[in-house]
Amino acid sequence: MTENLSILGSTGSIGKQSLDVCRKCGYGVKALTAFSSVEEIEKQAREFKPEKVALVDEKAAADLKIKLADTDIKVLGGMDGVCECAEIQSADTVLNSVVGMAGLKPTLTAIYAGKKIALANKETLVAGGQLVMSEAKKHGVEILPVDSEHSAIFQCLQGKPTNKALKKIILTASGGPFFGKTADELRDVTVEKALKHPNWSMGAKITIDSATMMNKGLELIEAVWLFSVKPDDVDIVVHRESIVHSAVEYDDNSVIAQLGLPDMRIPIQYALTYPERFESPVGELSLSQIGKLTFFEPDYETFRCINLCRKAINMGGLYPAAVNSANEQANLMFRQGKIGFLDIADRVEAVLEKTPHYDNYTFEDILEIDKFAREIGG
Ligand code: NAD
Ligand code: MG
Repeated sequence: MTENLSILGSTGSIGKQSLDVCRKCGYGVKALTAFSSVEEIEKQAREFKPEKVALVDEKAAADLKIKLADTDIKVLGGMDGVCECAEIQSADTVLNSVVGMAGLKPTLTAIYAGKKIALANKETLVAGGQLVMSEAKKHGVEILPVDSEHSAIFQCLQGKPTNKALKKIILTASGGPFFGKTADELRDVTVEKALKHPNWSMGAKITIDSATMMNKGLELIEAVWLFSVKPDDVDIVVHRESIVHSAVEYDDNSVIAQLGLPDMRIPIQYALTYPERFESPVGELSLSQIGKLTFFEPDYETFRCINLCRKAINMGGLYPAAVNSANEQANLMFRQGKIGFLDIADRVEAVLEKTPHYDNYTFEDILEIDKFAREIGG
């Protein structure tokens, strides 16, 4: 069980909810990091009194240093500063809620420092799953999922992530804001509409990933690494109510699911309290109030990103990393109004087709593929 935390990406949606869990459960917060949000992180630092804070943006870090001059909090800048927070001695657990594959280096740093990892940053496993899992094993580090579906699967597996009797994983998806729409209807869809998620309030990047359903493809890859399953043993089912957070099917065809209200503070808290459970500020689930739960086959033709991810993980090597980087770039360009909604899948596919094959890879190879994917993705 966690006692002291380092929270990477503390100013984001998951980061703020993690701090809320710390308030309720009384965990110590030893380090906080963000990209450039000076005011938010200053507020957090004054409340939680960590030893160190880091901002990736050096100018923002210099501003923060002036603002926190009356405290004895050490202010760091750049990715090196974030990594220093990831290996801070006084924390036993690193909660990584950075968005994007930028979270990979801090995850590896935390593994090398022997920290337990509560992982929200799914891109870490998509881009470098083989490397991350093998280094975690080598250093005896536990990776506990924060992503709600993976927390659900972990809970259904009763703490045995490599359960031999596991036949398949049933990954649920909300379907996002465009469930039931055709590709034609999505051609000119606005950023504003894509940012309106029906059930969850999240950061901008993952909200767009939910609209394209790329998020479910990334989660499929995440599940493959976390639970040592074959990609084809992960079924995806659209479940509009987001009450069943995922399920597992065993050899005897018994299916076990985890249910709860859609609130990330439950999976965040479980990653920290595991194997114990504490009271939660999240409300109780009333099934009779919800009335009915519905399930549908995903529309793979309209939401092409799901199968592009399935293809990438089946091909292995750095194909998933390439797909992830191409998506990071296209997702951002869509949010900036530079490309259309349907262009996202087209760009991901174009990069996947041009990516070279790797059997084994290093951290440097991942960075190279990231650069390659962003250049080709244009
Ligand atoms: P967000 O955009 O709200 O927050 C991201 C955080 O990362 C911020 O603190 C930001 O300052 C920091 N950051 C951004 N770019 C960075 C960089 N290049 N280097 C270092 N730090 C950087 O994102 P979020 O919605 O909180 O999501 C965080 C991660 O958790 C993502 O990987 C997402 O897929 C995953 N996740 C989120 C949710 C959710 O409900 N929001 C649910 C499941 C999984
Ligand atoms: Mg999820």
